[in-house]
Amino acid sequence: MDAELKTAASDLASLVRQSSRALAFTGAGLSTECGIPDFRSPGGLWTKNKPIPFEAFLSSRAARAEAWRRKFAMDESFKAAVPGRGHRALAAMVRTGRLSGIVTQNIDNLHQDSGVPDDRLVELHGNGSYATCLACARRYELSWVRARFEATDGEAPDCTDCGGPVKSATISFGQAMPEAEMRRALDWTVEADLFIAIGSSLVVYPAASLPVTAKRNGAMLVIVNREETPLDDIADRVIAADIGTLLQSVMEHLPVAGVN
Ligand code: NAD
Repeated sequence: MDAELKTAASDLASLVRQSSRALAFTGAGLSTECGIPDFRSPGGLWTKNKPIPFEAFLSSRAARAEAWRRKFAMDESFKAAVPGRGHRALAAMVRTGRLSGIVTQNIDNLHQDSGVPDDRLVELHGNGSYATCLACARRYELSWVRARFEATDGEAPDCTDCGGPVKSATISFGQAMPEAEMRRALDWTVEADLFIAIGSSLVVYPAASLPVTAKRNGAMLVIVNREETPLDDIADRVIAADIGTLLQSVMEHLPVAGVN
């Protein structure tokens, strides 16, 4: 590990120790080391398939079928993924009270898998490990959707109760943000004295407004991302390092038994 990264890790650990309400805000970059591609890195999902907007999903049966086809094609890497060094470090920080919570844009369930309790986690963009009916909110497991999808030669299934469209429980572009989650994320952001944005290109709104809100409300803003972001200019620290390596090193300065 290079000296610069070591210094950045020790500095971030000091900021965490000094803060009384540190909040982590995570994006797809946290999970790349777990084998889940992000959107905007070179070769990321964005360069392969532009996301299907919510309006198209609602209005077109073909778009719904395509959304499920892509989902199942990607599902192998999602299913195989386990929490990485970054997830484990953040979970340990939550467990020991170093972090007041985590607001995530990720949909991969890896914060939960690393042991972060629901009351310390806000999922801004939903969760891709199950599906719901958009009309009546009935929950469906992906195995059910997949069985229907395969049995009908790639048709998107409808709700068996009300006939509404069944969609992965994630928030698509153009879909309204979940109100309760957004409110909780905003409350935590306003209360934070240290806001650490990790692995996000910070271009997806309204999520990317949270670091700005944190800063306006007096928090120190730290951005950890290997590429530049549009908010680097307002950050107190920008750490362009590999997330897993950095957070593992931060933990060496905040020792907690059971984290490696
Ligand atoms: P993004 O793809 O726009 O940005 C990810 C950023 O992480 C990039 O700027 C990249 O340079 C950086 N990065 C990647 N790996 C890194 C590493 N190991 N170390 C340091 N930096 C690294 O992601 P976003 O801002 O979260 O926005 C994408 C949207 O897509 C989100 O809304 C999210 O819901 C969704 N998404 C989620 C997942 C997931 O759940 N794992 C994966 C892809 C997309």
